[in-house]
Order: sequence, then C-alpha cells, then structure tokens
Amino acid sequence: MTYDYDLIAIGAGSGGLSVVERAAEYGKKCAVVEAKKLGGTCVNIGCVPKKVMWFGAHIAEALRDAPDFGFHVKQEGLDWGKLVRQREQYIGNITTWYQGYMADKGVEVLQGWGSLVDAHTVEVAGKTYTAETIVLAPGGQPLIPNETENAELGITSDGFFALTQQPKKVAVIGSGYIAVELAGVFQALGTQTTLVSRKDLVLRGFDDMIRETLTQAMLTSGIQKAYHFKVKKLESMTDGTICIHSDDGQQLGGFDQVVWAVGRETLVEPLKLENAGLSVNGKGFIEVDARHQTAVENIYAIGDVTGQPQLTPVAIRAGRYLAERLYNHKPNLVLDLHAVPTVIFSHPPVGTVGLAEHEARAQFGSDQVKVYTSVFTPMRYAFTEHQIKTALKLVVCGEEERVVGIHIVGDGADEMLQGFAVALQMGATKADLDATIAIHPSSAEELVTMR
Ligand SMILES: Cc1cc2nc3c(=O)[nH]c(=O)nc-3n(C[C@H](O)[C@H](O)[C@H](O)COP(=O)(O)OP(=O)(O)OC[C@H]3O[C@@H](n4cnc5c(N)ncnc54)[C@H](O)[C@@H]3O)c2cc1C
Repeated sequence: MTYDYDLIAIGAGSGGLSVVERAAEYGKKCAVVEAKKLGGTCVNIGCVPKKVMWFGAHIAEALRDAPDFGFHVKQEGLDWGKLVRQREQYIGNITTWYQGYMADKGVEVLQGWGSLVDAHTVEVAGKTYTAETIVLAPGGQPLIPNETENAELGITSDGFFALTQQPKKVAVIGSGYIAVELAGVFQALGTQTTLVSRKDLVLRGFDDMIRETLTQAMLTSGIQKAYHFKVKKLESMTDGTICIHSDDGQQLGGFDQVVWAVGRETLVEPLKLENAGLSVNGKGFIEVDARHQTAVENIYAIGDVTGQPQLTPVAIRAGRYLAERLYNHKPNLVLDLHAVPTVIFSHPPVGTVGLAEHEARAQFGSDQVKVYTSVFTPMRYAFTEHQIKTALKLVVCGEEERVVGIHIVGDGADEMLQGFAVALQMGATKADLDATIAIHPSSAEELVTMR
C-alpha cells in the first residue's frame, strides 16, 4: 500500500512540529496540519507572549524599586499598546521563521482543521490525504465553566493576549499557574487585580512552602484576594463594568475585565476520532502507551492531549523521541517523566522539580523523609521598601539522603532550577550538594549550604 505521506501530524504546536521536523531529517515525507498559526499555543498564546509580559512586569518592579537605589525616576505609566505590538511583532517573526523552516525541511503545511476519515486518511479543507503514520497533537483550549451564568462575559488567557488596552481593574478567577501568572503581570503593570478562588492558597498540589510563600507574596504585592468564593454568575452593569456573584451571596464589582483561568480542556472534537475507532478517556485525554501509541497501531498522540505534564518541553521531547523510535532504530527511547522541572513565572517566580514534601512522605513513609528549608530576604531587597522573600526546600529520602524534591520560590528561581534538576535527575544526594562549592553572593548558594 502506498500513501501520500510517511507521516502526517495534526496540530503544528510544540509536539506536532517537533515530530515532523525530526522525521523529515530522517528523509521521511511529512505534512503538518494546522487550523490556526504555526507554533501552536506556546508560541502564539502561551509561554512566549506570557514571558514577554512577565519581563515587562519585571521592568515595572525594577522601576518601582529604582528610587531606593538612588535613581531619580518618574514613572509616567505604561504604553500597553506598544508592549503588545512589540510582543506580537516578535511572535510574528517566530511564526514566519517556522514557515521557512518547514519549507526547508520539505514538510508540507496543510492549512485548516484536520479530521480523521479512517486510520490512514486525514481530511483538511475538503481534501483527503493518506499517511502510513498519523500523529495527533491538537493540544487544548481554555475552559469556561458552563455552569456559571453569563460566563462568556469573562475572557480567558487567549483573551488576555488579545487585550490591546490595559484594563484598570480586573478579576482573575482561578488559583492554578496560569491564574497566578496573569494576576502577577496585571498587578505589576499597574492594573488593580483581584484573585478570585475557591481555595485560600494558590497552586494546589505544589509543595506547601511554595503555596504559602507565593500566596503571601501576591498579597504583599497588592493583589486583592477573594478566597472561598465560588462564582455563580457574572453580570454586565450599566456602566460597562462586570460584577461577580458568588453562590453564597457575595458580590465583587467594578471590573472592566474578568479573566477565567480555571483550567484547560483538550481540543479533540474536530479530530473525529471515532472514524478511526478511537475515543478519549473520562478526562478527555487520548490514552497512549509509553511509546505514545494509541489503541490504533499506526496512530500516535503526543503533547497536552495525552494527559502527560502539559509543558512545551514534554511535548517536544515526545515528538522527537517518537521520530527516533520510528525512523532511527531507537525502539526503546521513551520519555522519563519522573522528575519534570517546571517554572511558574509568578512574582516572585517558582521553580520546582521532583516530589513535594507531602508526596515524598506518602510515597516513602514519613520516617524516610527529611526536609531542609531556608527562608530569607535576598540582597536585592536589602534596602528597598518592597521586601520579597525567597524560600527554598530540599526534600531528601533514605539514609543516603537522596534528593527527591527541590522547591524554590524567589527571584532567580526561574533560571536557578535547570541545573539543580540535572543533579536530581542524576540521583544526587544531600552530600553531593554539600560537596559543591557555593557561588557567593547569590540566593542559589543556599541550596548547597543548608543544614
Ligand atoms: C497561558 C499559557 C502559558 C503557558 N506557559 C508555559 C510555559 O511557560 N512553559 C511551558 O512549558 N508550557 C507552557 N504552557 C503550556 C504549553 O503551551 C503546552 O504544553 C504546549 O503548547 C503543548 O503543545 P501541544 O503540541 O500538545 O499543543 P499546542 O501547542 O496547543 O498545539 C496544538 C495545535 O494544534 C492545532 N489544532 C488543534 N486541533 C487541530 C485540528 N483538528 N486540525 C488542525 N489543527 C489543530 C491548534 O490550533 C494548535 O496550534 C502554557 C500554556 C498556556 C495556555
């Protein structure tokens, strides 16, 4: 049987692009189907624009503290429109580059929604294409809760990136990493921000030290809190603002934007999985084995749609390893997800890898687990009015004190973690960290000098 392509990927995000890129390098004829823009969520409405906004917020914080270092600076506000235009120009350059890169690699880009016709056939914009192997990489989209009345008055992270004017007052609903990141950016850039959450601590599932320290830092930065607040309805007011009602009669009003950041769902409907005999599990994910194979032999799924950690480097690695297994004789190359490092671009940022203390205690037994912690005000804030704490925790296990979790909240956590994640991945012990000479003066040195 001959096919039009060796491999078709549906979705040109982090996962889809990486599998076609690597497969094409091994001489395979590939196409990638994309309904929107090359680069997917990360490049267009995720990591990249988010980090640009975070850098902007960082600069605002430096300006805020500049007088404490003796600078005569006068803040005259932010040209939000310019920041957004610069950001979009930067992203435009990336997507344009991708187009050229795909052409150079000989990968065809099929523009439109892709759906399965059968296990070897994909339909895009009314045309059908066959492939020996199909890779599903459709990612996801932000969730808007359908039980909330007038929920559509709120925007999502997609809408956040579409804002061309700075809102004066916003409510961010949620307490996960996207909620925390967007609230931090808004507040630092001068928008009066309220975080609306059912819980009283952000980042459920993370180590308690991270949750408590970051929640406190957010409040110190001026973010208003509305905790134990279950949103029942949004209401559009005559002055153009939005009011939020809770199920127990509380009201919060005067917002010119309300942002839903309550999770994401997979984008599987357009795929018409049923035509190839596939379906999703109860959580909406396409189930795959360790080699990312679905229940249909020649169809694979990678990235956010699989329920694996929803991070760009995880999707990229999955795509590359899949191509290595299929086309470069490395059948046993599988993802190792036991210690996926992750950073939250909050204010201050969070970096974490391995097990939270509560997870380690549950997994190994409390008597096998020991923690080392350090909380301090970094030198950056030694004489500034705004004082932002740094907190660090090492979770170690067993007599040899193997490091099974590293948790950092504080300035520099975002760049600090990657190297320490290598150490954890390699099985470092507390003694290995202690044997490492510190870098002074830095916050990171605390991780190798804890007692
Ligand atoms: C606000 C935000 C911030 C984030 N920040 C970070 C971060 O800092 N670090 C990090 O690692 N991760 C971050 N992420 C997560 C990261 O973006 C995702 O994990 C990653 O993009 C997943 O890649 P993917 O290939 O699975 O899907 P995606 O990147 O979502 O790509 C899927 C693509 O498929 C297309 N598509 C879907 N269905 C079809 C179809 N049927 N036909 C044609 N095209 C289709 C979509 O249009 C999309 O372009 C962030 C996400 C968000 C929303």
